[in-house]
Amino acid sequence: MLSRKITDGTEFVVFDMEWNQPMPGKEYPFEVSRLTGEIIEIGALKYIYDNGELIYKDSFSTDITPVKYTKLHYHVKKVTHKKNADLMNGIPFKDAYTSFRKFCGDAILVGWGSSDPSMLKMNLEFFDMNPRLDLFFLDLQPIFSLFAGLQGTQRSVEAAVDYYNIDKNEIFHSATADAHYTGAVFEEIFKHNKPSAVISAISSSSIDPDVPSDFSFVGPECLDGASAFATSGNFMKNCPLCNARLNVKIAPFRIRKSQYALLECREHGELFSRTRVKKNREGNYYAASVLRFATQNDYWLVASKKEEFDKYGEKGKPAEKTEESDNET
Ligand SMILES: [Zn+2]
Repeated sequence: MLSRKITDGTEFVVFDMEWNQPMPGKEYPFEVSRLTGEIIEIGALKYIYDNGELIYKDSFSTDITPVKYTKLHYHVKKVTHKKNADLMNGIPFKDAYTSFRKFCGDAILVGWGSSDPSMLKMNLEFFDMNPRLDLFFLDLQPIFSLFAGLQGTQRSVEAAVDYYNIDKNEIFHSATADAHYTGAVFEEIFKHNKPSAVISAISSSSIDPDVPSDFSFVGPECLDGASAFATSGNFMKNCPLCNARLNVKIAPFRIRKSQYALLECREHGELFSRTRVKKNREGNYYAASVLRFATQNDYWLVASKKEEFDKYGEKGKPAEKTEESDNET
């Protein structure tokens, strides 16, 4: 996926959002899958990158009064420590987003985990606003894992805060506090590592949330696993965005029940692919594949599986010795 190069003067907006959820079992006059969460808070911090340093510039914080899910879901209540009455102190989503978008300018959005941009786009779409963000997005979570030597694992922002001994003087899980903590982790990553290494990792990791980056394929039923694997071959041949023939960076190899590969479109960048052969109720086999623009986690995943394959072959590392946390999302 095309990423954005980082140069002196590049701005970053570290942000976090909270959203309310529909009440289970309650009837709504619309399809709940079109709005799985209604945004109730946006918090953000702006930084400017200059000469190996991240310099704090400005902050943004707003509460939003929900109009669809107007009573706090018990889970949201518990996690965010908000009360129903708090929801009335917000402003309409449209106004909140308009000033947030203005605050962002042409910064790179930075978040913890990849769910916030899609939730933002879902709300924009639902409320008949332009769902194009026109911003690049960087998920800081795998960048943290990379520099903390915890690759392949997903850590909470609180774990990252503990890792760097950052003061915990605010309660977690308000958008404003979590944006603040995420920003502090971002600063620490720069302080503890060579800025050129950090820049190189984040330059290749930001994505364009307006372009689909994740594609899947489910193959037809087959009588054996090998034939099932074969059905996914065509799915891996061409770029799902431009249809150009993909170059092979790491040739497909199979380890245990999964086949991995790293492919590349000259125009759109590197793609991670994984195919698993599954068995349905009738005992027939079928392939389930994912093809997605590679993230830091994916590079690590495919490289570590390849290393395991080169050492132990198709069967992988003997089971009694494995202690890997198979965090293959
Ligand atoms: Zn392409």
